[in-house]
Amino acid sequence: MTTLFGKIIRREIPAKIVYEDEECLAFRDVNPQAPTHVLLIPKKEIPRLADATAEDRALLGHLMLVAGNIARDLGIDDAFRLVVNNGAEAGQSVFHLHLHILAGRKLQWPPG
Ligand code: AMP
Repeated sequence: MTTLFGKIIRREIPAKIVYEDEECLAFRDVNPQAPTHVLLIPKKEIPRLADATAEDRALLGHLMLVAGNIARDLGIDDAFRLVVNNGAEAGQSVFHLHLHILAGRKLQWPPG
């Protein structure tokens, strides 16, 4: 089932896009939780990380590499955090797999 991120991929709703290739798209979070807050999503509509299969192995690896490249491009590669919320109880509100790329402030550990 498509989500609002599917609509962003299809340009049906606007987003501040920072990176795109054939397999993924990255854009600024509309409600940033840090000075830099980018969402990186696969174009394939995988609802949750737990729904990914062995077929998605290369795609998941690609997302990790792209996350590092985006961090370098944005100048945050010395200190950033990747977050994947999986399931409503873990804070997931959009059921299209996404990596949060967060940086620009002191990030606490453990996370909330
Ligand atoms: P999560 O809670 O992990 O599912 O993350 C969903 C994220 O999507 C939240 O951080 C929202 O602020 C963000 N979000 C929701 N709608 C939009 C939108 N139209 N454009 C950009 N980010 C959005």
